[in-house]
Amino acid sequence: MFDLIIRNANLPDGRQGFDIGLKDGIIATIEKRIDAVAGEEIDATGRLASPPFCDPHFHMDATLSLGMPRMNVSGTLLEGIALWGELRPLLTKEALVERALRYCDLAVSQGLLFIRSHVDTSDPRLVTAEALIEVRERVAPYITLQLVAFPQDGYYRAPDGETSLKRALDMGLDIVGGIPHFERTMDDGRRSLEALCRIAAERGLPVDIHCDETDDPMSRHIETLAAETVRHGLQGRVAGSHLTSMHSMDNYYVSKLIPLMAEAEINVIPNPLINIMLQGRHDTYPKRRGMTRVRELMAAGLNVSFGQDCTMDPWYSMGSADMLEVGHMAIHVAQMGGIEDKKKIFEALTINSARTMGLDGYGLEVGCKADLIVLQAADVIEALRLKPTRLAVVKGGKVISRSAPRIGELFLDGRPTSIDPGRDYVPKEPS
Ligand SMILES: [Zn+2]
Repeated sequence: MFDLIIRNANLPDGRQGFDIGLKDGIIATIEKRIDAVAGEEIDATGRLASPPFCDPHFHMDATLSLGMPRMNVSGTLLEGIALWGELRPLLTKEALVERALRYCDLAVSQGLLFIRSHVDTSDPRLVTAEALIEVRERVAPYITLQLVAFPQDGYYRAPDGETSLKRALDMGLDIVGGIPHFERTMDDGRRSLEALCRIAAERGLPVDIHCDETDDPMSRHIETLAAETVRHGLQGRVAGSHLTSMHSMDNYYVSKLIPLMAEAEINVIPNPLINIMLQGRHDTYPKRRGMTRVRELMAAGLNVSFGQDCTMDPWYSMGSADMLEVGHMAIHVAQMGGIEDKKKIFEALTINSARTMGLDGYGLEVGCKADLIVLQAADVIEALRLKPTRLAVVKGGKVISRSAPRIGELFLDGRPTSIDPGRDYVPKEPS
């Protein structure tokens, strides 16, 4: 007797038509045909079941604040920073909690159940940290929320940057953040990384740095971050977010940098939507893409996962909590359109992110936690192409969200009367 059986599902590794039996919060079996009953059954009808999506880089204190107190007219990073500066003194705990919970509702409906959010600690009131700690507790039954103490205005540059970050960690934030390229000088940035990695080592915490989010080919903070990671024995527990300057760096230098990053087991988190939108703004033409070297980093064995960064906030007016939108953009910007490339991009949105976030029991395998999603697509490649409806979202063996499949009706003489984009257009297997 199972709590829930998903019938006739395709699996992310390409196997087709399997039943998945969930019991006591665990994936108990995956086999061709489960001859048993369950409290509830879902017929996946030959569509993809996947582990839920993970977003390893987000800003939940800013999300859904679009238009508050005004719109970003130019759409630039600088106006976004100025806008956040205007909004920050007006933030209240209640409003932050309400926005974050509303965002989490949307995330659940999109099958996004694991989120790492940076939390701006620049305002010494720390109302952001207070609010998101409450949100972390309230969403815990359905979303795993990790919180990064993020000195947005600079660890050294902001008047209370050092003390506020430490106080936020004392309050219970999970991860040490930083923004070395925003400190006053390259040397202040370097010193901030030394200090932040030391704090992480002393407190036994992971590190996640907004690192080299510029087009400056001479930005060198990722080198320092990798070296400090090794020096403090933090291998595998440190993430370099963005790393856009690597796009512009000298190739010879990068040939030395990537092995150093591999030695430090840096988790690489590009944010394709934001990076393509905000980088290269000083270029005329040709315009740089402002995305780090995804293919080369993956080839060197680094763990690459993608973040969404923003949804409807001062920096980015778009976004929909859809990690497939992020993967879709990654395929284009990183020019990874091959079959194996796309499979790697899907892994970056799921198992690689889970590794970045240090999640236990994640995956669509027997013995893993009973968390999964069913999509209106046949396989991972179709999922990336279509960004399809999440037909079912399962957490701990219980269905927590359902959506009807998107079926288009047609009223054309001599043509089909309905279209299922996730079934009628699946490429035929070559004969
Ligand atoms: Zn960010």
